[in-house]
Amino acid sequence: MPSETKTLAKRQIVQICQQMLAANLVIGSSGNASIRIQDTDTIAITPSRVDYTVMELKDVMIINLKGEVVEGDRNPSSEYPMHLGIYKEREEVKAVLHTHSIYASVLAVLGLPLPPVLDEFVKDLGGQIEVAKFALSGSKELAANVLEALGPRDAVLLANHGALSCGSSLYEAFDKAVLLERAAQIYVLAISANKGEPSLISEEALVSQKAMFEMDKRFKRRR
Ligand SMILES: [Zn+2]
Repeated sequence: MPSETKTLAKRQIVQICQQMLAANLVIGSSGNASIRIQDTDTIAITPSRVDYTVMELKDVMIINLKGEVVEGDRNPSSEYPMHLGIYKEREEVKAVLHTHSIYASVLAVLGLPLPPVLDEFVKDLGGQIEVAKFALSGSKELAANVLEALGPRDAVLLANHGALSCGSSLYEAFDKAVLLERAAQIYVLAISANKGEPSLISEEALVSQKAMFEMDKRFKRRR
């Protein structure tokens, strides 16, 4: 694979981790990010236990879809199985972000899915965001639970753990992580203020926003 392609992927990983820190989606070295390397069966992924404030290009690992290290002197993020599971199942997904953002984690701790309370949210995330059943971090079982709860949508909550988003680029996955966190915050505040009974968007708005989400997917698959 051309070395510029790999370097670009590693640079994007370092940049997005800085953005995740700045947006308060993660702290320290928590969460992780990965991106498919164009025209290969490999991904660039954050290393295990390297603080994002000091992470450099050389720390970013390259692994294949079997989970074997192709390049790098560190260990890949221990949560790599859930990244690989998504790349194998969803060919249009080019990047995956896992965060420990606060309001999404509140829902994950409560085991509450995030219903379609905002119309923009359905268009960008695909519908109600489900909670993946708990399993140990980094396990194959967690990877399977995440894939099942993610379905065709672009975000999922991880019970008692955090959140995950995916997209056609790292920047898109990041935008979806921010949107998920914002919607989760609004939902948590809404149920706190209204005795647990927020109003959902209308069925008509749900259907039209879902159609826009699917149209966008079809468009991206053709590219
Ligand atoms: Zn995690």
